[in-house]
Amino acid sequence: MIIVLKPHTPPDQVEQVIAEVARLGYTPHAIRGAIQTVVAAIGDETTHHTLEALSALPQVQKVMAVQKRYKLVSRESHPAPTVIDVAGVPIGGSRIALMAGPCSVESEEQILQTARAVKAAGATILRGGAYKPRTSPYEFQGLGRDGLRLLDLARRETGLRIITEVLSENDVEAVAEVADILQIGARNAQNFQLLIAAARTGKPILLKRGMSERIEEWFLAAEYILSAGNPNVMLCERGIRTFETYTRNTLDLAAVAIAKKETHLPIIVDPSQGCGRADLVPALCAGAIAMGADGLIIEVHPNPAEAMSDGQQQISFDRFAALVPELGPILGAVGRTFL
Ligand code: PEP
Ligand code: MN
Repeated sequence: MIIVLKPHTPPDQVEQVIAEVARLGYTPHAIRGAIQTVVAAIGDETTHHTLEALSALPQVQKVMAVQKRYKLVSRESHPAPTVIDVAGVPIGGSRIALMAGPCSVESEEQILQTARAVKAAGATILRGGAYKPRTSPYEFQGLGRDGLRLLDLARRETGLRIITEVLSENDVEAVAEVADILQIGARNAQNFQLLIAAARTGKPILLKRGMSERIEEWFLAAEYILSAGNPNVMLCERGIRTFETYTRNTLDLAAVAIAKKETHLPIIVDPSQGCGRADLVPALCAGAIAMGADGLIIEVHPNPAEAMSDGQQQISFDRFAALVPELGPILGAVGRTFL
């Protein structure tokens, strides 16, 4: 931490700050300029008391952190990229995971047809919401337990791994019985009690970025899961809310490059929520792979026009099947392959 004192702080008040820094367990180093003095506090900011309270002293102008606030998710603590084992399917490393399926599980026929189609096209993980976080209470809320049962059926028939959202702490156990990956949605991105409860299942977790969440906050949310003893976290960029209206959200591909640099966790891109437009999904997939994403999670529906949620952004079976070979040259250019 660096403590900047106000111009012309008298020596006794400088000494007061130095003594306070030492009392909190840091080694103080004062750098005395002609006008201003700066006190560097040497010590581990993640284990020592916070020095931020020093900004309450009248002679202190500002207190600045030097160390990052996240530790377990950072590349510094774990230089090699993490590869997560999702019931035998590796996520991270040289291959790119393809997760696909409807926004919501709607019926047995819908989920089984979709599972077969996405598997045939190359997906290894089936998505589908049984519990849906909807903006309006009058919209389809998902099939709940019955949706979980249908996902289980699809897994048994196709062997696809399952990713589905857990909305509430109350459902963590039931969802973890069926899901190979627990999805934490954008609306729960900083629901720390839910993150901890999900972490305790030991299942891999896909942590979406919140709609207005800063990258640092996203990493700190992941830190909650890792510090609760679960290292199997994937970050998911799904677009953030901006002033733009051509798209539902603004897919932040810079965040993908930053997450790859700053953390060792696999990063998955959701182009469907990311732009809210089926016609843009292929371009965003290409961009995501080029930026270094480790996986894609794509909404695919047998008949998007009849979908009970997010119809405008779901792609058809044919479009999905065509997408996989179309992405081939980009995969080749970045030296990666689909699973
Ligand atoms: C979804 O995947 O259908 C979904 C609701 O995602 P998000 O939490 O990113 O909005
Ligand atoms: Mn959706």
